[in-house]
Amino acid sequence: MDDLKLYSPKVIKDILAKYGFNFSKSLGQNFLIDGNIINKIVDVADIDENTGVIEIGPGFGTLTQGLCNKAKKVVSIEIDKSLQVIHKETLNYDNIKIIYEDFMKIDVEKLIEEEFQGMEVKLVANLPYYITTPIIMKILEEKIKISKIVVMVQKEVAERLGAKPNTKEYGAITLAVQYRANTNIAMIVPSTVFMPRPKVDSAVITLDILKQPRIKVEDEKMLFSVVKASFGQRRKTLLNSLSNILKCPKEQINEVLQNVNISPSVRGETLSLDEFGKIADELVKIEYTKQ
Ligand code: SAM
Repeated sequence: MDDLKLYSPKVIKDILAKYGFNFSKSLGQNFLIDGNIINKIVDVADIDENTGVIEIGPGFGTLTQGLCNKAKKVVSIEIDKSLQVIHKETLNYDNIKIIYEDFMKIDVEKLIEEEFQGMEVKLVANLPYYITTPIIMKILEEKIKISKIVVMVQKEVAERLGAKPNTKEYGAITLAVQYRANTNIAMIVPSTVFMPRPKVDSAVITLDILKQPRIKVEDEKMLFSVVKASFGQRRKTLLNSLSNILKCPKEQINEVLQNVNISPSVRGETLSLDEFGKIADELVKIEYTKQ
């Protein structure tokens, strides 16, 4: 079967008319209209006949086609059920499964176990921008067996991933990525390659998941809680943020910070991954009591 050229603005317009489909701004529906960018994403993902791919948000199926042509199996997760009838025409492959569900509600560990036995699993997507950071955090927080993530994100999110402490770009996502992966910006993508055109430029980023996280901690969940709490209220001191958000008495947080030689008056954005790891381990040690 010859693939429908779903990146062609004419084909897109035909589909819009035929199915009466309207782009939903609130679902981040900015579809790719450049075949070269799609090929580049598929190339960067380095997919072969043993690879299983999870895709978030197939839209009409532009990128999905490229993935289906290379991978052993593709599971695409799409929140917009009105695309189902379109997929019947555009995604006629025998190695695809489409799940019509909010990705944030998917148990990815279970999905991998059920759908990708014996395969190397990668995640590839042109992400919906209203929910980019929560999606990336979800993937990095869950202990899922994937080797690589290749996603299109807003350029400013891409810049946050490799940010240094004491910059405004440095945040919880920077640390989550540093903990779990090596990251790289594969290309900057102008807004002109999307329909409708978003306001900002984009970037394709790769996250190569490390075999072992970059630092060893007693309790990963605690590490993520501490990191998120520290950036939840950026203007507050570490002592106040941790105490407020973790619901832990200030005296206990003070003791923890003292034990790891970190001043309670600093802000979270000054700390390194190592330091967050030490705070998390210390909190586990004292078995802090929630207020
Ligand atoms: N992959 C297509 C492309 O590149 O042209 C569409 C990408 S578009 C930026 C994002 C897609 O994600 C849309 O199809 C949208 O409906 C879908 N989406 C939005 N929120 C979602 C969610 N929470 N879970 C799954 N899919 C979602």
